[in-house]
Amino acid sequence: MKLKTLKLSGFKSFADKTTIEFQDGMTGIVGPNGSGKSNIIEALRWVLGEQSAKSLRGVKMPDVIFAGSQTRAPLNRAEVELEFDNSDRFLQIDSDQVTITRRIYRNGESEFLINHKNVRLRDIVELFMDTGLGRESFSIISQGKVEAIFNSRPEDRRVLLEEVAGIVKYKKEKQKAKQE
Ligand code: ATP
Ligand code: MG
Repeated sequence: MKLKTLKLSGFKSFADKTTIEFQDGMTGIVGPNGSGKSNIIEALRWVLGEQSAKSLRGVKMPDVIFAGSQTRAPLNRAEVELEFDNSDRFLQIDSDQVTITRRIYRNGESEFLINHKNVRLRDIVELFMDTGLGRESFSIISQGKVEAIFNSRPEDRRVLLEEVAGIVKYKKEKQKAKQE
């Protein structure tokens, strides 16, 4: 599985539709302070199902929508789209390309799509669970997270190790089965 493109539109400082293409190998994002580097990483986490507005440096979720600038009016909608090459079928979807889309409107209404079909947030979260790419994953490590991992309680650290080991999905299924 490979990350191909990330498209942002109306998300935080990205008022215009912006496409970021990932080439093979390593990608670096550089730019002056305040140019939107962290916003790009937040867009990635958001489209993968992030539910905490606070961890996206906002108060409520619609805060991710472009809030306007000196020269531009605020927008009413934010959209982020992530495209994967899935020809190795790493993600459990039978198609070579997997597109994940998330939208939010000012009134708080949200939309989630997998391959342009409406799904629930839960479907996206489950698709990425145990892949290392999920919303609580170890593959997106922000400033301060490393320290937080070292200082966390053993129980919390265990959750991270379980995600790395790929057993979270089975634990969730076990919980669900017990409830039924
Ligand atoms: P640094 O190098 O300091 O870490 P950065 O490149 O990571 O900077 P970001 O934190 O991604 O920069 O971008 C911050 C900018 O995004 C600020 O100018 C802020 O006003 C703008 N911004 C954040 N949310 C919104 C929003 N909802 N609407 C418009 N602009 C926004
Ligand atoms: Mg930053």
